[in-house]
Amino acid sequence: KIQAIAMRLIAEHDLPPQDLQALLENNSPQLRRTLAEAAQELCRVYYGDEVYMRGLIEFTNECRSDCYYCGIRRGNGAVRRYRLGEEEILGCCRRGYDWGFRTFVLQGGEDPQYPPERIAPLVACIRREFPDCAVTLSVGECSDDAYRMFFDAGAERYLLRHETACDGHYRMLHPLRQRPENRKRCLRTLKRLGYQVGSGFMVGSPGQSSAHLAADFQFMKELQPQMIGIGPFIPQRDTPFGHAPAGTLELTLLCLSLLRLFFPKALIPATTALGTIAADGRELGILAGANVVMPNLSPQAVRRDYALYDHKLCAGDEAAECRDSLALRMKNVGRRLAVSRGDAYGFPPRY
Ligand code: SAM
Repeated sequence: KIQAIAMRLIAEHDLPPQDLQALLENNSPQLRRTLAEAAQELCRVYYGDEVYMRGLIEFTNECRSDCYYCGIRRGNGAVRRYRLGEEEILGCCRRGYDWGFRTFVLQGGEDPQYPPERIAPLVACIRREFPDCAVTLSVGECSDDAYRMFFDAGAERYLLRHETACDGHYRMLHPLRQRPENRKRCLRTLKRLGYQVGSGFMVGSPGQSSAHLAADFQFMKELQPQMIGIGPFIPQRDTPFGHAPAGTLELTLLCLSLLRLFFPKALIPATTALGTIAADGRELGILAGANVVMPNLSPQAVRRDYALYDHKLCAGDEAAECRDSLALRMKNVGRRLAVSRGDAYGFPPRY
């Protein structure tokens, strides 16, 4: 029966939630291999052998939010706080451009010292200096006006994981004032404004069940994001979930394959968290259906302080300066690192 469900997903790219839940709960290594192979094949239909790379600039770890799982939450007094200035961020872009990056992802906590009025001119500045590059923002929940301001300044993509589609589970992971409906509202606004939108969730977050995961897929079927970021939850010792178990490699890889099969054209990264729980995590992610990698372009001096979870990778091939060895890793799994903006299939650049 499970085999038949898997075959139906491979043929139809859709399943009712109860069948998806059954697949998540009841699968063998053989079945996971079948799904991964089908996912990779489907990825090649739209993206060939190219893997897109993004230069990740973690520009501030100050945050007004207090997500219970996150190492840079406001309540964590043990983290050393930093904030990069505009010139430092432009310096990261210049280095990245020389290494072949054509997308810069500006990610940060929700930092009151970086209000929309400061972020928008920065985006415009990057777009002016690098007209052949895309800017992706990931700065959390903002007002509709702020999202419009960023878009008008030239940001074409936005990453905002929904984290969990189930309101009860969301409340378990966040303080009461952080409302699940606001996060969803933000995602819908971003879609409406014309962004390429990225959503996603952590695999194995505290309290997560396979029913929650099935609800995540259902939510994304409605949202139709162009990008989907998932990675294992990894505990950070100074947070309320510091002793919770991490998400597993197997379940993360399975979710990657299922996402590819449900959302054939999506841009799906093999994330840093995946590279953190397994030395060959990124390669395994690509083999499971991912097609994006996001090496770290932040200045060396602050990388350790963007400490979302314990033992987060920030050196070696996770670092943008190691592009060549990352390229080799991709070559070893039959893929090629592309020097391009890497837009979502059917989504032309806006400028
Ligand atoms: N502030 C922005 C936001 O809220 O989207 C962007 C930064 S936030 C730190 C980026 C992502 O890190 C979150 O969406 C969350 O899924 C992930 N993250 C945070 N803590 C994590 C943990 N302990 N393990 C794995 N991923 C984590």
